[in-house]
Amino acid sequence: MIDFALDDRMEALREFLHGFAVDELRPRARAADVSGTVEPEVIARLGEMAGDRAAIVPSLRSDEGHDGPRSDGMVAVVGGEELAWGDAAMILNIPGPGLVGPSISSAGTPDQQRRFLAEIFDGAGPRFGALAVTEAQAGSDVSNLRTTAVRDGDEWVLNGTKVFCTNGARADVLVVNATIDPGAGRSGQRLFVVLKGTPGMAVGRIERKLGLTASETAELVFDGCRIPFDHIVGGEEALRPASGFKATLRAFDASRPGVAAMAIGIGRAAFDYVTEWSRTEIPRHARRRPFVEARLAATERDLAAARGLARRAAWMADNRIPNSKEASMAKASGPRAALRACVSAIEIMGPEGYSREHLVEKWFRDIKVYDIFEGTGQIQRVVIGRHILGRLD
Ligand SMILES: Cc1cc2nc3c(=O)[nH]c(=O)nc-3n(C[C@H](O)[C@H](O)[C@H](O)COP(=O)(O)OP(=O)(O)OC[C@H]3O[C@@H](n4cnc5c(N)ncnc54)[C@H](O)[C@@H]3O)c2cc1C
Repeated sequence: MIDFALDDRMEALREFLHGFAVDELRPRARAADVSGTVEPEVIARLGEMAGDRAAIVPSLRSDEGHDGPRSDGMVAVVGGEELAWGDAAMILNIPGPGLVGPSISSAGTPDQQRRFLAEIFDGAGPRFGALAVTEAQAGSDVSNLRTTAVRDGDEWVLNGTKVFCTNGARADVLVVNATIDPGAGRSGQRLFVVLKGTPGMAVGRIERKLGLTASETAELVFDGCRIPFDHIVGGEEALRPASGFKATLRAFDASRPGVAAMAIGIGRAAFDYVTEWSRTEIPRHARRRPFVEARLAATERDLAAARGLARRAAWMADNRIPNSKEASMAKASGPRAALRACVSAIEIMGPEGYSREHLVEKWFRDIKVYDIFEGTGQIQRVVIGRHILGRLD
C-alpha cells in the first residue's frame, strides 16, 4: 500500500515552514496586498528561509543527474501548502528557480541542470527563475503559439511576445517556449533558456491584478534575441521531431501538484480562520450553527481529498512514474476545493467576511488565479477525459 504520511524529514520541514508562515508571512500579508510590493529586506529573509528549507530536505540540487527517487515533488506540495497558508502572494517572491526548477529538472540535460540552476543558486543576492509560455492568443491553445526560435549557426534567434509571466521582469533565468517549425503545431515547440540581460529581450507592461497583488506579472518582448545553441532544453536530443511539445508537458506534470498544494494552503487558511471565528462567534449567531457545521465538514473533506490527490501526483513524479493524468486531477481539484473553502468562509462570517478587517476577502481574491495559471481547471478536465478515453495527443 502507498502511504502518503510524512516521514520525519518531511514533517520537520512542514513544521519549520508553518512556523515561518505564522511568524513572517501572515503578519505582513495585508501590507503587501495593499502596497503590491514586498520590501527588499523581506525578500532577503525569504531567501534565508529557502536556504534553511533546503538544509532540512535537500531538494533540486541534490537530485541532479541521478536516477533514484527524488524529493522535490513532495517538498513542493508539503512546503507549498504551508507557505501559501501564510501568504500566497509573498511566497511568489521567494528567491529561487520557481517554475524553472520543474522545467529544467524534468527535461534538461544533467549539464543544463547544473549550469542553469547554478545561475540561480550560486549568484550574488536574491535570484529568480520564471517560465514564459503564455501569449496573447495562446494560453490553453498552445498550438497557436507564435514565438519563433530560428537556428543561426551556433545560436538561436527568438522573436515574439509573452504575457502574464510571474517574476518575468526580475528573472535571472527564464525558460521560454517557442516554435522551431511554425507549420508543425505543438510538435514544433521547444523550451529555451534565456539569461537576464540578453540583448533583444525587453520587459513590457506589468499587470495590475485582482489578487496576488504582491506578485509581479510581466509581459516580455523578444526581438532578435540571440541565445547560444545549447540553451535548447534537452540539448541535441530535443531536436528529434518526436520530442516536440513533450518537454513543456513534462514541466507541467512536475509543477502542477505543487501549484495545487499552494491553492490548498489558501483554502486551509480560510478554513482555519473561519473555524476559530466560529468557535468564538457562533454563540452570537446561534441560528447559523447547522449551516456552519455543514460547511466546515464539507470544506475539511474537500481539502483532505484534494491534498491526497496532490501528494499522490507528487509522489509519482518523484518516483519517475508518468503522472500526467494524476497531476491534472490534483490541479483540477485543489483550486476548486480551495475556492469553495474561501466562499464558505465569507458566507459563514456574513458581512464580516467581506470586510478588509479580515484576510478572508483577500484569500477569496487570491485563490481564483490558481484555477487559471498552469492550465485552467477546464483544460485539466479535458486532459483527464482524454486520458480516460485513451486519446491524449
Ligand atoms: C496572475 C497570473 C500569473 C500567470 N503566470 C504565468 C507564468 O508565470 N507563465 C506563463 O506562461 N503563464 C502565466 N499565466 C498565464 C496563464 O497560464 C494563462 O492565462 C492560462 O493558461 C489560460 O490561458 P489563456 O489566458 O490563453 O486563456 P484561454 O485559453 O483563452 O482561456 C479562456 C477561458 O476559456 C477556457 N477554455 C479555453 N480552451 C478550452 C477548451 N478547449 N475546453 C474548455 N474550456 C476552454 C479556459 O478554461 C478559460 O476559462 C499567468 C496568468 C495569471 C492570471
